[in-house]
Amino acid sequence: MRQHERMSVVTGTRLTRFNADMEDRLASVRLVDPQGNESDHPATGAFVFIGLDPNTAWLEGLVELDEAGFIVTDRTMETSVPGVFAAGDVRSGSTKQLASAVGEGAAVALQIRHYLDSLEQGQ
Ligand SMILES: Cc1cc2nc3c(=O)[nH]c(=O)nc-3n(C[C@H](O)[C@H](O)[C@H](O)COP(=O)(O)OP(=O)(O)OC[C@H]3O[C@@H](n4cnc5c(N)ncnc54)[C@H](O)[C@@H]3O)c2cc1C
Repeated sequence: MRQHERMSVVTGTRLTRFNADMEDRLASVRLVDPQGNESDHPATGAFVFIGLDPNTAWLEGLVELDEAGFIVTDRTMETSVPGVFAAGDVRSGSTKQLASAVGEGAAVALQIRHYLDSLEQGQ
């Protein structure tokens, strides 16, 4: 997988600079290896992975969060508080993919209906 004629995988380096062409478009990136050697690599696009930092500080003490701040749910996507559900990227263990987030939203809508039905039936 790491061998492809149109790709090179470079690890153990830091990206320190985006170089632009005459039209201000990305032309290359500057990499620095652990020995401090700099090299420019042609690139026409860059995806910067900065990780995820869920906006859940306001939920602290209200529902259980994991060590990274994502909402812990059971297999029905119910949180530690009965009747409170979570779906999508904010949920601990979710796949952080659009299709999954949409699917979880639909599944949670059904779970909410079940929950409301159970309240109505006094269960
Ligand atoms: C750069 C990038 C590229 C991606 N590429 C892909 C891809 O190619 N394929 C793929 O499947 N997935 C991709 N994803 C992931 C995908 O975008 C997410 O999985 C999806 O958007 C998650 O949907 P969500 O509704 O759970 O969360 P979000 O889309 O993050 O929606 C959460 C919403 O809640 C709002 N919000 C936050 N806090 C509060 C608050 N306190 N009160 C009210 N509103 C609040 C936010 O403003 C936001 O609108 C990518 C994500 C990024 C960042």
